[in-house]
Amino acid sequence: MAKKYHVIVVGAGSTGTATAHDLALRGFDVTVIERGEIASGTTGRNHCLLHSGGRYAVTDHEGAVECIDENRVLRKIMPASLELNDGLFVAVDESDLAFKNTFLEGCAQCGIPARDIPVKRALEIEPYLNPKILAAVQIPDGVFDPYRFCLSFLATAKKNGARILPYHEVTGLLMSGQAVSGVKVRDYRTGKEYEIGGDLVVNATGPWAGHIAAFANVDVPVVPTAGVMVAVSKRLNQMVVNRLNKPHDGDIVVPQRMTSIVGTSSWKIDDANAIKIPQEHVDMMIDYGEKLIPALRQNPIRGVMVVARPLIGKKVADEREVSRTFEAFDHTHDGVDNFVTISGGKTTTARAMAEATTNIVCQKLGVSAECRTREVVLESYRNYYNN
Ligand SMILES: Cc1cc2nc3c(=O)[nH]c(=O)nc-3n(C[C@H](O)[C@H](O)[C@H](O)COP(=O)(O)OP(=O)(O)OC[C@H]3O[C@@H](n4cnc5c(N)ncnc54)[C@H](O)[C@@H]3O)c2cc1C
Repeated sequence: MAKKYHVIVVGAGSTGTATAHDLALRGFDVTVIERGEIASGTTGRNHCLLHSGGRYAVTDHEGAVECIDENRVLRKIMPASLELNDGLFVAVDESDLAFKNTFLEGCAQCGIPARDIPVKRALEIEPYLNPKILAAVQIPDGVFDPYRFCLSFLATAKKNGARILPYHEVTGLLMSGQAVSGVKVRDYRTGKEYEIGGDLVVNATGPWAGHIAAFANVDVPVVPTAGVMVAVSKRLNQMVVNRLNKPHDGDIVVPQRMTSIVGTSSWKIDDANAIKIPQEHVDMMIDYGEKLIPALRQNPIRGVMVVARPLIGKKVADEREVSRTFEAFDHTHDGVDNFVTISGGKTTTARAMAEATTNIVCQKLGVSAECRTREVVLESYRNYYNN
């Protein structure tokens, strides 16, 4: 790069940290600004399912193909942040059983390896499964540790020169005519407010993307959509257990450390900073979850979490109809230059989201640099503190 351009990434969830890594790897000077701790937004409290794409194989082919593609890449580049025990889709009633062939066809169309296994075998592998299940299909789901996930990207970005500023909130955008030229920040550790100049700003603030975009008077079609998850204080499954049907509430149980987490629900909210947890959603998680793993009800609740998905799309009656894919917005099309928003997607697809965003940054700044994030194995998350 003849000139080393300075790119500011706002937000250190899975999207912002993956983007910082891609930018630094392609030679940009990168500063990441995060108002809290790393992964303190949606990423740090999500369901932790490394999607195989099975969940979307029938209803959202684009999202499903993205998932299986990225699932394979992440296994190569960040093995230390993943637990790879596969997943099961299980039929608990006749309607689920009738869905099985549609599911297997959807998986085949999306290139997701899916294996119909005998019920007896499924119960041997997962003894806490509902003994009355009627069918089981094994797919390559996994589990990620969200904090390690983000730290691995940041450790590698730091090694390539990036600066990370946690506990800094972006309170405004600097404008030079119709172009963004930096950010105003508040450092919560010192109370100081100051400005940081940059050649381009990437808005990777997930469900808060609309707030940052509004500083430049542009709109992004983000629909913050909340979901509740309930963790019980015993690890009841080793594989991810999914209900064999179209996506629904309370139809996934993810093992995470010494807990099992059942989720999720889905409803549109206005403010991602203040989401109230409806008790009926907590009850519903256990009601639906116990159909998959009856012992969920017998174990004390260890914690209840709620966060908002940054879904992209039109406002629709059923939030589950909004595609789980992502979109990068070059705000030049809105009359504001040097400003890009990336939103939607999932933690599983963060690397692909980063690639799309960095491609736009390269094109805008006239930089020619290939994406290498599919191949470059990330630094250990521990090196975030050592580098
Ligand atoms: C209930 C639920 C369950 C989910 N489960 C899964 C799952 O199992 N697997 C999966 O792959 N995906 C899952 N997802 C989706 C996934 O969590 C999100 O797509 C992903 O975490 C979004 O990451 P992000 O980096 O875009 O946003 P975030 O993680 O929210 O990061 C945005 C960051 O921006 C920061 N920020 C906001 N405003 C400012 C500001 N003014 N200045 C500085 N920083 C700011 C925030 O503090 C935050 O850390 C789930 C989502 C939900 C809601």
